Amino acid sequence: MAQKQYATRSLGEYTVTTVYDGFALAPAATLVTEDTGLNLANQWHVFRQTRKLLMRADVLMFVVDTGDERVLIDAGAGRLLGPTMGSGLKNLAAAGHDPADITKILISHPHPDHIGGISVRGQIAYPNAHVYVEADDHAYWTAPENTYRKLGEVLAPYVSLGRVQLFRAGDEFAKGVRAVALPGHTVGHAGFEVQSLGQSALFWGDIIHDYTYQLAHPDRTLVLRDFDKTRVAEEVAMQQKMLAEVSASHLLVIAPHAPFPGAGYVDANPDGTYAWRQAA
Ligand SMILES: [Zn+2]
Repeated sequence: MAQKQYATRSLGEYTVTTVYDGFALAPAATLVTEDTGLNLANQWHVFRQTRKLLMRADVLMFVVDTGDERVLIDAGAGRLLGPTMGSGLKNLAAAGHDPADITKILISHPHPDHIGGISVRGQIAYPNAHVYVEADDHAYWTAPENTYRKLGEVLAPYVSLGRVQLFRAGDEFAKGVRAVALPGHTVGHAGFEVQSLGQSALFWGDIIHDYTYQLAHPDRTLVLRDFDKTRVAEEVAMQQKMLAEVSASHLLVIAPHAPFPGAGYVDANPDGTYAWRQAA
C-alpha cells in the first residue's frame, strides 16, 4: 500500500494536519536501559525480543490550523539525514498548505529530524515564519564546545532575519497552544499542549521512539551514541511519568515518531506495560 502523504483531524475548532516527512532506521540494539549500555548482551537481548536488527520509525510533522493562523509543530529532517526523509515540504503542498501561510514553527527539540526541514540549501523554507526553540536546548546546542554544526546551518537564515525566538514551559504561542517541559531526551525537550473547545491533545515530541517495543518495555529508551547512565535514567524517568499520566487521563497523544498519522492513546496493561492505540 502506498504511503499516505498527509492526514487531517479536527480538535475542537482547530484542524490538525499530519504531514509525512519519511522514516528513520536505527539499530534495534540502541534501545537500552540504564544498566545495559550499548553492549553485545543488550544487542542479543533486543534481537531475541524483537527479531529485528533495525527499528523503523515514521518521521512526521504537524500543522495546527487555529482559524487565525497555521502553526507547524516540528519540521522534519529536510536534507540532513538522507533520502528516506525530507518529503515534508512536498507533502505539505499535497495537503493544501502553502509554506508562506505558516507563521510559527515550534521545535520540540533541535535534533535534525525535527528541525532540518526549516531551511533548504541555506534558504528559509517558510518565508513568513518565526522559529521557536526552547531556551535551554538552544543554549546547549549552540554552545561553543558543541561541535554539532548542522543546527546552526539550518537556523542561520532565520537568525539573520531576527526570526528565532526562545521559549520556556508555559509560553503560549497561539490561543490554546502552550509549551510543556518534558526534559530527558534533551535538556530542554518540550511538548505542546493544544486545546480547543474542551478538546485537548499533547504533542509530546520524542518521549517514545518505538511505539511497539518501548511501550512493552517502558524501562528502555533510545540512545544512538554516547551512552550516559545518568542521562538514560532521566530520559526513562520522564517517559515512564508521561506514559502513566496520559494512560490515566486518556489524553490524545500526537507524536512525530508514532505510526502514521501519529495520533493515539496509551493504554495501561495490568502487568505494568503499555500499548499504543491508534486514534480513530
Ligand atoms: Zn526524533
